[in-house]
Amino acid sequence: MKKISVIIPLYCEETTIEECYKRLVNTLCNIENYTYELIFVNDGSTDNSLKLLNTICSSDTNVKVLSFSRNFGHQASIAAGLKEVTGDAIIIIDADLQDPPELIPNMLKYWEEGNEVIYGKREKRNGETTFKLLTAKLFYKIFNDLSDTQIPIDTGDFRLVDRKIVDIINSMPEHNKFLRGLFSWVGFKQIPYEYERQKRFSGKTKFHLNKMLNLAIDGIISFSKKPLKIIGYLGISCIILSSVFLLYTLLSYVFNFNFLQPCYTIIIFAIIFFSGLQLCSLWIVSEYIGRIYDQTQNRPEYIIEKRINF
Ligand code: UDP
Ligand code: MG
Repeated sequence: MKKISVIIPLYCEETTIEECYKRLVNTLCNIENYTYELIFVNDGSTDNSLKLLNTICSSDTNVKVLSFSRNFGHQASIAAGLKEVTGDAIIIIDADLQDPPELIPNMLKYWEEGNEVIYGKREKRNGETTFKLLTAKLFYKIFNDLSDTQIPIDTGDFRLVDRKIVDIINSMPEHNKFLRGLFSWVGFKQIPYEYERQKRFSGKTKFHLNKMLNLAIDGIISFSKKPLKIIGYLGISCIILSSVFLLYTLLSYVFNFNFLQPCYTIIIFAIIFFSGLQLCSLWIVSEYIGRIYDQTQNRPEYIIEKRINF
C-alpha cells in the first residue's frame, strides 16, 4: 500500500492545531488504498502548541512531531520534515488552514497520472492585506527577472511532491534553502493546481516584514548572480558619467563659459549619492559572502530538541 506524508510547519499555532489535525485526518482517512503520516514540525513555539501536539500524538500514532530547540524559520521546518518523511507522495501544507486539506485527494489523482510535482497556485487570496499582495507580486516579478529558474507567480510552498524529488532535495547540502525555488529548479513533470487561498483559521500571520524580506533575499541570492553583475554595470555607468563631466569641465575652461559656479550642492549630492551606491553594492556582495560564511561554518540548519512517535 502506498503512503502519503504530510509536513506541517508551525510556529505558535495553538488556536489552529486541533482543527488542522481534524481536517487533515478527515480528508486522509477517506482516501482508499493509502496509509498516511502527519509530521508536525514545531518551530520553537512559545505557546501551548507542543503540549497540544503531545496530546494528539498520545492517541494517534500516525501523527509524529519534530520540535526545534528554538525558532529556526518556516523553510528550515519544511526541510526538517522532508528529511523524515517515509511516504511515496509528500504534501507540504501550512497549519493555519489557508491551504485547504480537502484539496489533497484531487492533487493525489494528478500524481497518480504521472505528475511529479503538483504545486498549489493561488488564483484568489482571501484575507491578505494589500501590502502583502503587492509585495508578493513585486517579489515574484523581481525573482523571475533576475533568476534563470522561474517560479510560477502566486505559488507558495503548498504542494504535493513525489518521493524521488524529495530524495534529490535532501541530498543537497545547501543552507538557507529556498524550497519553492529548488522544487522548480529540479525539473521533472510539474503542474499547477489552482485554488482559492482561504483566510487564516485563527491567529495572526507569523511572517512579518523582516521574515518576508529575509526569505525574498535568500531566494534571489541563492538563484541569481545577476545582482553582482548589476553592481558592475553601475560602476561602469559611474565611470562614463564622470568622464563626460570631466570633458565638459575642460571644455568650459577652453571656451571660457561658466560651468556650475555655485556647485557645492552638486558636490554634496554627488558624494552622498555615490557613497550610498557603494554601500548598497557592498551590501549585495556581503549577502553572497554571508552565505558562503554560513556554508563554511557548517552549522546545522536547525536543532531538533524532541521527537515524538518516530
Ligand atoms: N511558520 C513557521 N515558522 C515561522 C513562521 C511561520 O513554522 O517562523 C509557520 C506558520 O505557523 C504557518 C506557516 O509557517 O503554519 C505559514 O506562516 P504564516 O501563516 O504566518 O504566513 P503567511 O501565510 O501569512 O504568509
Ligand atoms: Mg498563513
